[in-house]
Amino acid sequence: REEMNIIQGALELRTKTVEDVMTKVEDCFMLPNDAILDFNTMSSIMESGYTRIPVFENDRFNIVDILYIKDLAFVDPDDCTPLGTITRFYSHPVHFVFSDTKLDTVLEEFKKEGKSHLAIVQKVNSEGEGDPFYEVMGLVTLEDVIEEIIKSEILDE
Ligand code: ADP
Repeated sequence: REEMNIIQGALELRTKTVEDVMTKVEDCFMLPNDAILDFNTMSSIMESGYTRIPVFENDRFNIVDILYIKDLAFVDPDDCTPLGTITRFYSHPVHFVFSDTKLDTVLEEFKKEGKSHLAIVQKVNSEGEGDPFYEVMGLVTLEDVIEEIIKSEILDE
C-alpha cells in the first residue's frame, strides 16, 4: 500500500507545476548584491540554515547570483568583504524555470549534470502598460519535488 501511494505521488508529477510546490519569494532568504560580509550578515546567513542563497540586485524580483554556504569557507568577517567579490569569484550559474513547468520536467532538469538542485521560479508579467518582463515568483529545490512524491504516503497514513 505504501508503494501504491509513492506511485500515486510520482504520477502526480505530470500534472503538478513548480508553482504548486515552490517557496514563495516573500518567504525566501535572500541577500542584496551590495551586502557586506561582516559579522552581522554572516551570522544571519548561518542562522537561516540554508545552503544556497539567491542574491538580488535592486529588488527581490531580480535574482543575479546564488551564494553557496561553502563559498564562505575562506571569508573572514573582520575583512568586511563585499558579497559581490565572492559571487564574482565563484560565479555559479543561476538556474531558472517557468512557474508552469511540470514537476516531472523539472525533476529531469535537476538530474542533468552540472545543473543546480535549486531553481529560481519566474513568470512573464504582461500586466500593465509597459513591455512584458520576467518576474521572480520564488524558488524550488529537488527536496520540494521529492517531498511531493512521498507526501501522499505521509498524509494517507
Ligand atoms: P537546504 O539545503 O538549504 O536546506 P533544501 O534543498 O533541502 O535546502 O530545501 C529545503 C526547503 O527549503 C525547500 O522547501 C526549499 O524550497 C526551501 N529553501 C531552500 N533554500 C531557501 C532559501 N534561501 N530561502 C527560503 N527557502 C529556501
